[in-house]
Amino acid sequence: MFGEGLLTGMGVTWKHFWGKKETFCYPEEKLPMTERFRGGHLVLDHQKCIACSLCSLACPNQAIKLKIVPDAKKKRHMQSYVHLIGRCLYCNLCVEACNPRALSWDKNYAISSWHPEDMDDELVTEEGRAYFEMMMAKAKEEAEVEAKAKAETETAGGGDA
Ligand code: SF4
Ligand code: SF4
Repeated sequence: MFGEGLLTGMGVTWKHFWGKKETFCYPEEKLPMTERFRGGHLVLDHQKCIACSLCSLACPNQAIKLKIVPDAKKKRHMQSYVHLIGRCLYCNLCVEACNPRALSWDKNYAISSWHPEDMDDELVTEEGRAYFEMMMAKAKEEAEVEAKAKAETETAGGGDA
């Protein structure tokens, strides 16, 4: 029949026009990634991190550079956490090595860059830096109080003798 192919084609178009959309407006919209997707930037939960270095030690390609400093009470804190994305294999070993579950992926798969320096990602955010400063100051204060109390005890003990 003349026009049969055209009608069949229009029928298919009509069906898909009202059906579920299979496309999306990238890059304004991004597909949600699955639970086990590994990719994008590493995210550090600075309140959970205990600065144990296990993530860095687990990395087979030295893609994690840490700067850990002890506070006045000798507790370790994360001052800087740089993820060298250009070296990363996305093997997930760092995330699996982290016992307090302080590491995760942001699942943003669109992270290509023209500039190599953009591939070095600092995970300690402004908020994380403020938390670090607060913890250092708190430990210093507590250490000073403890030292003062100890000195007073020793003085009192010396006076009794
Ligand atoms: S995913 Fe693998 S290669 Fe990448 S930082 Fe973690 S341990 Fe290193
Ligand atoms: S393994 Fe986890 S807790 Fe330890 S330094 Fe790395 S992110 Fe922090």
